[in-house]
Amino acid sequence: MTRETYDVILVGGGIVGISTAYHLSTRTDLDVALFEADRIGGRSTGRSAGGIRQQFATELEVRLAMESVEQFGRFAEETDRVTFSQNGYLLLARTDEEAARLRTNAKRQRQLGLDVRELAPETLTEYVSYLRPDDIVVANYCPTDGVVEPHTVTRWLSDRTREAGATVREQTPVTGVRTNATGETSVIVGNDEISAEHVIVAGGVWSERLFSTMRLSLPVDPTRIQIVVTDHHTEITEDDPFVIDLQRKMFFRPEGGSSLLVSGQHPTADAPADIQSYNKSHDYAFSAAVSEFLLERTTGLEDLQIATGWAGLKGVTPDGLPLVGPVSVDDDEGLIVATGFNGHGFMLAPAIGRALSEYVVEGTWTDLNLEPFSPTRFDR
Ligand SMILES: Cc1cc2nc3c(=O)[nH]c(=O)nc-3n(C[C@H](O)[C@H](O)[C@H](O)COP(=O)(O)OP(=O)(O)OC[C@H]3O[C@@H](n4cnc5c(N)ncnc54)[C@H](O)[C@@H]3O)c2cc1C
Repeated sequence: MTRETYDVILVGGGIVGISTAYHLSTRTDLDVALFEADRIGGRSTGRSAGGIRQQFATELEVRLAMESVEQFGRFAEETDRVTFSQNGYLLLARTDEEAARLRTNAKRQRQLGLDVRELAPETLTEYVSYLRPDDIVVANYCPTDGVVEPHTVTRWLSDRTREAGATVREQTPVTGVRTNATGETSVIVGNDEISAEHVIVAGGVWSERLFSTMRLSLPVDPTRIQIVVTDHHTEITEDDPFVIDLQRKMFFRPEGGSSLLVSGQHPTADAPADIQSYNKSHDYAFSAAVSEFLLERTTGLEDLQIATGWAGLKGVTPDGLPLVGPVSVDDDEGLIVATGFNGHGFMLAPAIGRALSEYVVEGTWTDLNLEPFSPTRFDR
C-alpha cells in the first residue's frame, strides 16, 4: 500500500464534483485530486435534460441558480464547446392554488433581481406556437432561464481543472473513506490509502455506499426518471422555451432543432430504484404517458412519434433540499458531502462548487451560506 496526500480530494466527477474541483484548482493554490469511478459526467449528469431554471421557491435556491446562470454564461463566452440556449422557462399553472404559489414565488424572485413575467393564457402561443392554453390560469416566464448541454460543459470544466494543475482520474473507484481524530481523512483507491485535509464526497446517489462502515446515513432516495425525444416537426423550433406543466409534473423543450425532449414525474418513477441494476432505458408505460400528455398540452403535433429515450437516477431528500456540507465523524471535521439534489443538481452546480471551494478555504460559509442544506439537519 502506498500513501499519497492532497489538500482536497473529491470523490465523483459528475457536474457537482467537477465544478467544485474547477473552482478549487482555478481560484486557490490547493493541491486537488478528483477520483471518478466511471467517466466524467457519465452517470446522472450525462443523463439529465440540461435545464437551467432560476424560478425556485426559496431565496437560497434562487440565489444559487442566478449565480449558476452567470457562470454558465461565462463558460459559453470562454469556449465554443459550451452552448447555453437562454430561451426561458415557462411554468404553467392550471389551478388557482398553483397560480397563487407562482405569484408568491415570483414576488420573492423579483426582490432578488430576477426578471420574471406573468403571462396571460391568451398570449402563450406567441411563445410556443403548438401550446394548448385552454386550461391555463396563468404562466410565469423567465427569459434568462435555459438549457446547457450537460456532457460537454462537464468535460470542458474537467479539462480546465486538469490544466490548472489538479489530478483528475477516471475509471478510479474509491472503495472506502476513513477518518481519524487527528483531523486526517483518507480514501481507499485500489491498494492505496490517500489522505487529505478535506474529502468531498460528490458521488451522486452512490455516495452513501462509501459510508457503510461509518455511523453515517444520508436520507437520499435514488429515484428513476425517464426522458424521451420525439421525431422532428416543423412547428418545433430551437428557440422555443422550456415548458413545465406544474400539475402534471411533466415538461418539454426543443431538442436538436425541431424535436421535443419530454420528461417528468411518472407513477413508476417514484419508487426508490436499485442504484446498481436500474433500467436505463425508457419504457412503454412512460412513452404512453408522454403521448397522452402531449395530446393534452399541445396542438398540431398529433402525428409526433417517440424516436428514442433513456432513464437516469436523481436523489430525492425528505424536504426537497440538497445535502451539502460537513459531516462530523469521530470528531473529524474534514469530511464533506454534496448529494441529494432532487433533480436540480445540474442547474445549481456552478454556484455550489464556488460555495464549497470557499468553505474549504475559509472553514466557514461565505456569501452563499449553505447551512440550510446541512446533511445533519434531520438528526436535530
Ligand atoms: C433524466 C434526468 C433528467 C434531469 N434533468 C435535470 C435538469 O434538467 N436540470 C438539472 O439541474 N438537473 C437535472 N437532473 C438532475 C441532475 O442530473 C443531477 O442532479 C446532477 O447531475 C447531479 O450531479 P452529481 O455530480 O451530484 O451526480 P452524478 O452526475 O451522478 O455524479 C456522481 C459521480 O460520482 C461517481 N462516483 C460515485 N461513487 C463513486 C466512488 N465510490 N468512487 C468514485 N466515483 C464515484 C459516479 O460515477 C458519478 O459519475 C436530471 C436527472 C435525470 C436522471
